[in-house]
Amino acid sequence: MANGPGFVGIKFCPECNNMLYPREDKENRQLLYACRNCDHKQVADNPCIYVNKILHEVDELTQIVADVIHDPTLPKTEDHPCPKCRHREAVFFQAQSRRAEEEMRLYYVCTNPDCTHRWTD
Ligand SMILES: [Zn+2]
Ligand SMILES: [Zn+2]
Repeated sequence: MANGPGFVGIKFCPECNNMLYPREDKENRQLLYACRNCDHKQVADNPCIYVNKILHEVDELTQIVADVIHDPTLPKTEDHPCPKCRHREAVFFQAQSRRAEEEMRLYYVCTNPDCTHRWTD
């Protein structure tokens, strides 16, 4: 298997030969590979994926369009003031992660039209 710089090799489960999926171990703050077919898990030897994942999440936030603050179907909250401008009202919604086993996250968008700051909890 080619293992050049930046190349992330596909890994296979030594128990059942199914593909292993990267998974974040939140307690130990490390990246694991986990099999979806059996209980096999192994620690990733390439921590670069972890960094890519974090960058990717930031990217997802920037892709949220500011127009959502005008969407009347989205719920609004006054319990989550904007961390940037302290505006009290924000719209929020759940984003379905690409990876099914990851928990659903809530995204917030500040309804101050001059701000439209986006964050997640
Ligand atoms: Zn397996
Ligand atoms: Zn704001």
